[in-house]
Amino acid sequence: MKILSVNAGSSSLKFTMLELPEEKVIISGTFEKIGLDDSFYTIKYNGNKDKKEAKLENHTDAVKILLDELINYKVIKSYDEIDGIGHRIVHGGDKYTESVVIDDDVLKTVEDLVPLAPLHNPANLVGIRSFKEVLPNTKMVAVFDTAFHQTMSKEEYLYALPYEWYQRYGVRRYGFHGTSHRFIATKMKEMLGEDKKIISCHIGNGASICAIKDGKSIATSMGFTPIAGVIMGTRCGDIDVGLLPYVMSQTKEKFDDVMTDLNKKSGVLGLTGVSSDMRDVEEGYNNKDERCITALNMYANKIVEYISMYNTKLEGADYIVFTAGVGENSDLMRELIIKRLEFMGVKLDSEKNHQRGINGEISTDDSSIKVYVIPTDEELMIAKDTYNLINE
Ligand code: ADP
Repeated sequence: MKILSVNAGSSSLKFTMLELPEEKVIISGTFEKIGLDDSFYTIKYNGNKDKKEAKLENHTDAVKILLDELINYKVIKSYDEIDGIGHRIVHGGDKYTESVVIDDDVLKTVEDLVPLAPLHNPANLVGIRSFKEVLPNTKMVAVFDTAFHQTMSKEEYLYALPYEWYQRYGVRRYGFHGTSHRFIATKMKEMLGEDKKIISCHIGNGASICAIKDGKSIATSMGFTPIAGVIMGTRCGDIDVGLLPYVMSQTKEKFDDVMTDLNKKSGVLGLTGVSSDMRDVEEGYNNKDERCITALNMYANKIVEYISMYNTKLEGADYIVFTAGVGENSDLMRELIIKRLEFMGVKLDSEKNHQRGINGEISTDDSSIKVYVIPTDEELMIAKDTYNLINE
């Protein structure tokens, strides 16, 4: 079966077409700068990457071009060869604990949840509606970033705030990156043959840590929004909210502008003043740039704090797994993190750690907690859920 896995952002639309159950990627691509003058798209097929310019007024334009290209590239002969479409949806609130077939009720709920994810859910909805417009009869599935974390206990997801904020307004920890953490849980079970206690470190531009027990999320570092937890590319992670009124009084900024600073100008970018990209910051670190050294040490420290916390919550983790852009590619960051855990017997095999494109164990045989690198695959997870639900 041919399944499209779709991730629609406010000005972008990413897609991957996979053959299921073989789990084979057929073609993928990204439409960027939708709604802007210099919009374009790239298509990856058969090891080649083609970049094309196109006027993309809106997401529906992108979807129409996408479908035409599937025919141009001879991936399909007609649209009805697309058996299902899986959409990444950022927020499913506390309603969705797993993926669901999209119907009017689901659309309404995702719409109702817009206040909880004002940047993401509207873009995700535009993606769904654009496909619905062009392919009204194709089955579609919603895969939520928050769903995997719905197994957290109340003690874990409540904040110590006025209780009615939770009851009336849904103020609680939701957690994100659930599809990626679930991929790690599933992959590890496949590899090990049983569920183990795992600390999954999804560290990319956005980053979150998740404690997984019996294949379920029991704690995660992102919170009500994706700004919380560890230090990220441009997001601050955990901070003292008491500093907000002070900063506003000093800078004369409005609240929304301060929030933009916390989301877009903080994290690694804020600390270094150079870049949010770990590759640039590592270059600075290697050239002994003081701010880059401080930033990378703080970044590692914060992840170690969460690993330590989750090791306790799990009453002893069996595995630490690194994934996403930084986790998969930065041997330096993995080393900075694991070095800080050496006192408790966690040991990296430095030769394995330095290998490129690693997929598997990077700790020594006698390491107290095993350390793995597993490349995440959210697109596959979305496609598998879609395949399973449309075949039910
Ligand atoms: P997103 O959260 O946007 O999905 P990714 O998981 O793709 O992000 O991670 C992107 C980040 O991964 C980049 O910003 C960069 O910091 C980091 N990264 C990618 N390749 C490398 C590399 N070779 N070494 C260090 N960091 C890398």
